[in-house]
Amino acid sequence: MKNIIIFGAPGSGKGTYSTEIAQRYGMGHISTGDVLRAEIKNGTELGKLAKGYIDNGQLIPDELMINILATTYDALPKGKGVIFDGFPRTIAQAEALKKMLEERGDNLGMMIELIVSEEVLMFRLLRRATQEGRADDNEETIRKRFAVYHSQTEPLSKWFAAEGIRHTFDWDICKTKEGMLEAIFAEIEKQNK
Ligand code: ATP
Ligand code: MG
Repeated sequence: MKNIIIFGAPGSGKGTYSTEIAQRYGMGHISTGDVLRAEIKNGTELGKLAKGYIDNGQLIPDELMINILATTYDALPKGKGVIFDGFPRTIAQAEALKKMLEERGDNLGMMIELIVSEEVLMFRLLRRATQEGRADDNEETIRKRFAVYHSQTEPLSKWFAAEGIRHTFDWDICKTKEGMLEAIFAEIEKQNK
């Protein structure tokens, strides 16, 4: 299987769809958000550092994030391909990922972009706040995360298009999680023929 990068705004469903894809195709799954939250939970030095950024809606600095990603990637069984969920989030991270994979005789594979309106995103994130109690899911921090997304992450969409590997899936067109999954699975299977 080709590697997959899941790309989208906070609350667009990166984690949800990654889990479904990983299960269906037996792929590895790296969620940088989950890695960081585990570090915070375990009270590590990295966790303490990361918490300051996350609770403030900011990104962890690129150099640190790139090191975390490489360590996580190298510890993962490959074979069936890997899903990158929440990474890259900046052009520098994307270039580092491309280089890291090439050094290992691999490549980026395909990128899946989830397109969801800000209204729906806010609704989902505030609902998740009541269900999961994530410290960064409050309205003020969510607004900051949207701003960071627009300024630092969204420009990457064009970077992937220039690489010729961008595939977009629009919530307004698919309308349901099942509809999104059906379209995503079809594209993955087409790309792996
Ligand atoms: P989802 O679509 O799954 O709801 P999300 O954007 O709400 O995603 P995570 O991907 O879990 O949340 O990331 C949470 C926080 O962790 C980010 O706001 C950021 O502070 C930090 N983080 C995660 N990945 C990265 C990364 N690649 N670079 C920098 N910071 C990151
Ligand atoms: Mg997530």
